[in-house]
Amino acid sequence: MLKGKSAVELADALETMESFPHNTGGLSMLDEATLAFGGKSAEIGEAQRTFSQARHAHKSSYSSASGGYSDDQWHQVMQAAHRLAALLRALGDVRIARCSRPASWGECGLPLDEDGQCRSSLGHADSSIDTR
Ligand SMILES: [Zn+2]
Repeated sequence: MLKGKSAVELADALETMESFPHNTGGLSMLDEATLAFGGKSAEIGEAQRTFSQARHAHKSSYSSASGGYSDDQWHQVMQAAHRLAALLRALGDVRIARCSRPASWGECGLPLDEDGQCRSSLGHADSSIDTR
């Protein structure tokens, strides 16, 4: 579970991917886990989008003829991952606060806004006490 990890921990995880070529599942989880950090700065947001786009390009590079993914595309994902990792590392031990209210599927878990509010459009299981 990568959600709830600090920026530095995600930076480590991104760089560790270097040792797991063509691990699309790991990239997918990292894409999702780093998405909320994109709101921290325009630079991180851009690096996160670049990483996400490179990940998708790599995923769709699978060729049944060669029986694998493009090494070039993987290289591009890793370049984007290292750039994103460097920016996340600079953030330090920052975590994205996530909503701990109950939802129908368990804990809501969505990233909170800067003002600590959850913008979930799916509602919360305790919304009966949410009468502001
Ligand atoms: Zn919530």
